[in-house]
Amino acid sequence: MTTRINPDHDIIAVGAGFAGLAMIHYAREAGLSIRVFDKASDIGGTWTWNRYPGAASDSECYYYCLTFSKELLQDWSWSVRYPGWEENLRYMHFVADRCNMWPHIQLTTRVLSADFDETAGLWRVRTADGQEHTCRYFVSAMGMISEPIMPDFKGIDTFQGPCFHSARWPEGLDYAGKRVAIIGSGATTVQMLPVLAETAGDVTVFQRTANFVMPAVQKTVTPEWDAEIKAHYDEIIRKCRQHVFGMAFDSPVGRTIAETAPDEVQRILEEHWTRGSFRFVFETFDDLLSNPESNRVAGDFVIRKMLSEVEDPDVRDMLTPKGYPFFAKRPPLDHGYFKTFNRKNVHLVDINEREPIVEITPTGIRTTRQHYEFDIIVLATGFQAYTGAQEALPIRGQGGLLLKDKWETVSSSIMGVFVAGFPNLFMITGPQAPFANLPTSIEENSKYIVNCIRRMRDAGDNLCVPRADAEAAWVEHTADIHRQTLMAQGDKVHSWMMGANLKNRNPRVLIYFGGANVYYDKLEASAAAGFPEVTFERLS
Ligand code: NAP
Repeated sequence: MTTRINPDHDIIAVGAGFAGLAMIHYAREAGLSIRVFDKASDIGGTWTWNRYPGAASDSECYYYCLTFSKELLQDWSWSVRYPGWEENLRYMHFVADRCNMWPHIQLTTRVLSADFDETAGLWRVRTADGQEHTCRYFVSAMGMISEPIMPDFKGIDTFQGPCFHSARWPEGLDYAGKRVAIIGSGATTVQMLPVLAETAGDVTVFQRTANFVMPAVQKTVTPEWDAEIKAHYDEIIRKCRQHVFGMAFDSPVGRTIAETAPDEVQRILEEHWTRGSFRFVFETFDDLLSNPESNRVAGDFVIRKMLSEVEDPDVRDMLTPKGYPFFAKRPPLDHGYFKTFNRKNVHLVDINEREPIVEITPTGIRTTRQHYEFDIIVLATGFQAYTGAQEALPIRGQGGLLLKDKWETVSSSIMGVFVAGFPNLFMITGPQAPFANLPTSIEENSKYIVNCIRRMRDAGDNLCVPRADAEAAWVEHTADIHRQTLMAQGDKVHSWMMGANLKNRNPRVLIYFGGANVYYDKLEASAAAGFPEVTFERLS
């Protein structure tokens, strides 16, 4: 039995990054009231938290943006192919300013909990300032790679200098001339090392697993390129919408390594290597991520090219990825990472086989072989992807069910948007959505969510109850596709794409690998069919 109460807002969204801004736009367009909370002191999400030296987007600028306004696309110009965090933040301010979004955004406000009130049919959202806010629809816009993982090394609290996660870089930290340790060698470290090494006295990278890394090939956006981008925005948006990873690439290319002569394979790989970006994977051959032998050929090529810049054979050996296929871990893009290992002030320590870390001490890091002295320790140890932010926040659905408990062994959802047992909860890029160019997925999810709410409003309904059978079907479909990909081998090497980077937790299917374009089609088909994955009810 429900009792109708008018909530404070139609929608409360948590997170003022790309997802929060997109939700504001699409909600307002539909005439819905929306409030966005963020614990950060600025908008920007990823780009307000990740301020480590060298932090930049790995998607190219002209499709790493929101596309709902043709005017904004024409009025904003990027300076480089892969903008740094400062430029991404400036862009997001530009969007918020131009679209007058600020009245909807409340910063420096930590959401403590979100509870579904079954009697009133609304969500009660408590914030750290002691307030309770109510909304009909609760939207997680908290980002899919936002909850840092802090390692539990013995003695970690005893270190006397700064010791922090890479996503919490201390403002104004002076590392000039200092001895810096970086634990971890993922995408963050690959971006950070070349910049740090320029100024730090000495940098030591503690690596557990070596990565396949592709060249970024940074470039200035010239006035000519800017004009070309702006003249082709309709096409760019169309390409993103139709691409397996939501990127403005020309693929599939209609050829496979398996069916191409070996010399020609090498020529094509070589040609694309010099162009940089993830294009190397998507614009060369269509079977790199599905055919193990083709993947091996491409992987061997990547290893040969990336290590050709490293002078020391021992360092080269340590940097060689072993025992897993190319792309089973998300490959970082290189902005000078490998060359940096030729510098006298840069060192690499293998903490997998040669000398695992034993403890952190007041003055450094002790491995099984020796003690290293440091002034600063950077924990570039990654994130709890897809589920971290939602689990960090107690979200309780029907019967007080905690989302974290529901996801104990399987992070189930319907298309990464709905979760059975959690009426009127919507997620933007939740678990079992694709891994893709994020602004593309964020906009497709936001449109879908707002269309669902609009459908309810138009029919006089106001409760959207995800169906357990639809969830079971999506979980099975996603797992089925996952099994057919090489990504399923990521659990061997702690890939965050399977949650295999978490201690005391089973690896699981976190990503829909059926293609972002196929997924966007499914969202559209669901909306056109009246959202059959949920049942709609009317509060009395
Ligand atoms: P990551 O790729 O998960 O890398 C974390 C690193 O820390 C790995 O080398 C991991 O080793 C190591 N590690 C974790 N726990 C450890 C422990 N207890 N002991 C020793 N080593 C440990 O994290 P990330 O580099 O922050 O990147 C995460 C994702 O964020 C990227 O893949 C990307 O999607 C996104 N990102 C994007 C950008 C961009 O687009 N510009 C930039 C940075 C990050 P193992 O490999 O052995 O687990």
